[in-house]
Formats: sequence, C-alpha cells, structure tokens
Amino acid sequence: MANASSAAAPARAGDRVGIGSSVMRGLLAGLGAGVVWWLVELAVNWAFGGVIPLEEALGVLGLDLAIAGAAGLVVGGVIGALGRGDNVVAYALGMTVVYGLLRVYEPPSVFGEGLFVLVGAACAAVGVVIAGRRVGWLGFVHVALVATAALALGKTTITEVQSSYFSKQEPNGFLLVAVLAVLPVLGVAIDRVLAFVLRRDVVRLAALLGVAGGAALIWGKPLSTAAFDDPRPLRAVAPAGAPDVFLISMDTTRADHMSTYGYERETSPHLTALAADGLNFTQGRSPAQWTVPGHASMLTGMYPSRHGAHYVGGWSAGPAIYGRRRVFPLAEDKTTLAEVLHGRGWATGAFVANFANLYRGFGMAQGFQRYEDHPQLLLRPIPHVVGFVQQFSPAFMKKPFRSAQGINAAAFAWMDTLPQGRPAFVFLNYLEPHHWIAAPPYDLWAKDLPNAERLARKGLFTHKIPAGLSKEESEFVTANYDGQILAMDAALGELVDELKRRGRYENALIVVSADHGELLGEHDIVGHGGRMMYEGLLHVPMVVKLPGATRPKAVIDDPVQVVDILPTVLDAVGAPVPGGVQGSPMREVARNSLAEEHINPEFVSFYGEVYNRALRVIYDGPYKLISSSRGEKLLFDLTKDPEENNDLAKQEAERVASMESELEAAMSSMDQKVATGDDPYADLHDYIE
Ligand SMILES: [Zn+2]
Repeated sequence: MANASSAAAPARAGDRVGIGSSVMRGLLAGLGAGVVWWLVELAVNWAFGGVIPLEEALGVLGLDLAIAGAAGLVVGGVIGALGRGDNVVAYALGMTVVYGLLRVYEPPSVFGEGLFVLVGAACAAVGVVIAGRRVGWLGFVHVALVATAALALGKTTITEVQSSYFSKQEPNGFLLVAVLAVLPVLGVAIDRVLAFVLRRDVVRLAALLGVAGGAALIWGKPLSTAAFDDPRPLRAVAPAGAPDVFLISMDTTRADHMSTYGYERETSPHLTALAADGLNFTQGRSPAQWTVPGHASMLTGMYPSRHGAHYVGGWSAGPAIYGRRRVFPLAEDKTTLAEVLHGRGWATGAFVANFANLYRGFGMAQGFQRYEDHPQLLLRPIPHVVGFVQQFSPAFMKKPFRSAQGINAAAFAWMDTLPQGRPAFVFLNYLEPHHWIAAPPYDLWAKDLPNAERLARKGLFTHKIPAGLSKEESEFVTANYDGQILAMDAALGELVDELKRRGRYENALIVVSADHGELLGEHDIVGHGGRMMYEGLLHVPMVVKLPGATRPKAVIDDPVQVVDILPTVLDAVGAPVPGGVQGSPMREVARNSLAEEHINPEFVSFYGEVYNRALRVIYDGPYKLISSSRGEKLLFDLTKDPEENNDLAKQEAERVASMESELEAAMSSMDQKVATGDDPYADLHDYIE
C-alpha cells in the first residue's frame, strides 16, 4: 500500500516537514476528511431512517469539502508549528476536532467554542499517542474514519435515545463538549485494542467496515422511499363518462386565514376562483385537530371514535410506528373512499407531503394503487456542516416535505401512466402551512415586520401551554403562516390550470378541504394536536366543484364536516355508501357538527397535566360547547364572540346541559361495530400489509 501514497499524501513516517509543506498537507487532509465526514454521515442518515436526495447530498459534499479544506490549512499550520508535520494521525484527529467544533459552534457562546478547541486538542493529542504510528493515505483515512464514525454514531445514538418526535433533548454545554471531544479518542482506542487481534491495519480497517456495514443492515431502520404500489390488477370498469375525482387536503389550514372566507390578506385567490365555480361551504369543520384522525375521517366518512385512528390515550397501548408509541393507525377493516372507488373502476393514487403522519404505516394507503409518501429531505441527524451553515442561514436545508408543486407533478406523472378513458381518484396532501417559515416570494407579509431576521432564527414553535409568544412573535408567526397558505394556493391554481389544459377540468369532481387548522398564539397556544379545541383548529375550508357543465354554484352557510366528503363524492358518482359511515352528502346534512380529541400520552409526559384530558365538541346554531374528560365546560356564541373570549358556560347552564346530553348521545353511538355481513365492499378491505 505504500506505493499508493504519493508525494502529495499528508505525510509519511520519517519525513521532515516544514510549516509551508504541512499547511499544504493540511489542505489535502482537509479535503480527505471532508469526504470521510460526508460518507460517514450519509451512512448514519440512511441507517437512522433519514432521506437525502442526490442533489442535496452533493450540496452537502461541496460544503464538507470547502469547510474541511479551509480548516485543513489551519490544522496543517498548527501541526507544522508543533513539529509533527510527518504524523498522519495528527492530521486525522486534528480534522476530527474541526468536525466536532462545527457541532459545538453556536454563536454567541465563544467561551464554549474556545473550551472545545482546547479540550478537543488535548484529547486529539492523547489520541495521537494511542493510535501509534500510521503512514500514508491509508493510515490517514483509517484514523479519520474510525474517529469520525465514533463521533457521529455515538452522538446520534445519544440524541436518539434522549429525544422523541416531541422533545428534542441532547447533551448540552459542558457535557456536549466532553462527549464530542472524547468520542473520537474512544474510536481510536477501540481500533488500537482490536490491533492486538488483527495486527495488519488494512485487514483491521476492512473488518471494521464489514462489521459496521453488517450492523447497519441488521439494526438500521432505513425509510423506504419507493412508492407503495398495489400489485393487484384493477378489474372493475367504471361507468362511461365517470368523472375524475380530486381530493385536495390542505394540511393545517384554517379557513379564517383564507381570503376565500373573508381574511383581510389575499391568501387564497385560486381557491376563491374554484369556489366561485362550484359550492363553497363557509361552515366546514374538521372532527379532529390533527393529521391522523382528520385524514382518517376524510377518507372513511366516520368520526375518530368510530374509525379508531387517533392518539392511544394510554402508555402501554397502541403499536409503535417508527418508534412513536402514540397513535392507532387506521384499521384494515375500515372502508376508505379509495377502496370504494377502486372497487368500481377508478385508478387510485395518493401523493402526500405529510410523511410524518401519513406514511403508509398509518393505514391511509388502503385502496390506493399508488401511494407516494416519502419525504423530500429528512436529516437524521443533521450533518455537522449543515448545522453550522444553519447558524447563519436558518432556512438552509430545512424543507423536509415535498412542495405542493412537487406533489402536483408526481400526481400528473402518475396520471400520464393510466390507460386512456380510465377515471382517476387522486388524493393530494399539501403541507406548506404546517411549516411557518415562508421562503421568498411568500415571505411578503413577514419580511418587513420588526426584527424579522432575528425572529426567523428563533424557534418559536412549542407544544408548551401557555406558549408564551410575545405579540411581535405571534404577528411574525401569523405572517409566515399566511405566506405559506399563499404558496399552497398558488400550487392549487397550477393544478386547476393543468387540468383545464388537459381538458380534464369540466368533468372533474374536485373537493378542497383541510384535516385541521392551527393556533397562532390565540389563547396563548400555538400549533395543533392536544390543544384546546378553539375555532382556529376546527374551522376549515370546504369547496366542492361537482362535475358537468350544469353543476350547482353557490355559497352555502349550512354546517358541514370533513366526514361528509366521502358521502358527497359517492353520491355524485352514483355509488352506495359503505356501512358505518356517519357523514351525509353535503346538501343533506342534518346533524350538529362534532369534534373530538383523545389524549396523547407523550404530550402528557413532556408537557404536563395540561394535556391530560380528552376533549369533545358539539355545535348547535351559533353555540359551541367544548367538554373535557376532566369536567371542564366552555360555551361560546360564535356569532357574537368569534374569538371565543367570553365563556358563557356558567350563565347558560341549561344550554350547556342540553348540548352536553346531545353530545353524549352522539358519542355513545361511536363505537358501534360495523356489520360486515352485508358490506358490499367486504372483499376490498384486506390487502394492506
Ligand atoms: Zn395535519
């Protein structure tokens, strides 16, 4: 192997190396280390279920090379000044100190960085002694690989053990400094101990790589990014002229922040145009306040307590989905809109941006021939160099989900593969409003606010109640949220334009709604899921454009719900409604609207007793009653008090009692078993693994 190390290699044993030469060797060592960092992090990301598309991966490689190369010049200079320019181990461990520093680096804690450089250098010096003499590129790569892998893997394991989806905790302060300084030495020490058994460096390196690869294959949890494709052929033939059906779910979108429903900012011009061409229901409500129960209601026509896909409400129950023991998925015995339409000859495709809650394991893929649920970019962990850049550019590589445009493109690409004349049911889930930081040009309302740049760096999202956002922070969050609605609405406009261009608009049945809304600081709460069920969470857009030139067009103020989507679609295409469905075609809804929320045990664990209650909501005319499992009652008159500031429960005890008994009666019917004997779709239930 000695022949492989050219004169340009970091150093060879016995060389006498001046400072100028060791700076050049430092540059080369930096470039080599950059490649090592990149490879190690790609492998760790893959094993821990992250996803990095090629384009982003190459961007990270470029950053790694640039930063590590520049740092290598300094490291080489220092090593030369210490008279160790001939020692490849010094270069390898010097670069690993830089790698750790990128993770520690968080202005303005200059003291922390300075401390790390001192401790890291001391540990590296110990590592140089432990590692013993190594030569050439192989020696350099060997030590750099072992040290970087120990650091990346150790640090990631600690983060994974200490964190969950809801609570990111990791070693802080001195502990972080110590961990990042010691882990590389630990890697070198393990390698050194192994040298007693496997004496030849090249054999040992091969063995370590083999063991690491084997461990990753055995214990790794890579996320499947291939679309789920139903292998069963579509045998049924839809009636001639059957319409395409598009169900567009605007994740996390509250109606009162859309100009379509009177909001002062022009956030949704394209939805307004679509609504003018069909039915616009101004009083649409979700029966839930987060993604899984909201979408399950959308796809089954059932309330959460009947379809059963909701928080587990207890620590021990419920399956783990990618490590999250918090939710029951939609059970296979529930019949979805996709299953019904698929059974009647529709080609069915779903393109979802919310991979975190609509991944195939959550049960929503039932009935879809194609289900695309992969993230755009999922960094687990965040590469050190990316975290470093994010210190200066907070939005850098922080877009984990597929854009609404990307979702549209995927849907059309799939539609292009369908045989001529076959109607399609296309379910699209857009996610922009879920993520608050709006990118240009959709930062138009946020960018000129006072302190916008500073607020953009600040993590304002919290599950804590009270959230404690200042007025300025709340306005910034709202301006970004509104911008994200505008971004999503632009994609809706493009979808409609493309359907028109393809001649598939007039005969299409298009439904636009949302799984739930978002609180933006009202009542000192932000976010959704487990929050008090104020209107920001439940009042959602609901636009239905029926097929055909003579379709009805109207603005309708009668209350409807997301559970009414399935019956409305099946009514329009002339298909019977499966057993157990609780919604009705939207023009025939005669029930009072309901909503419910189960207990999320992780919220209770991390954020306290404030989350330790289930919630139920019933509407009656202008009145809304919120009732909790702890006995709290809140009554609002939404006409007089749309912001829900004036609780009437004490003054109107009789109304509370009568609404409560109606609510109890409705809820007591939820858990009825659905008869399967005469279920016309019984044969369709059971094919998702
Ligand atoms: Zn959602």
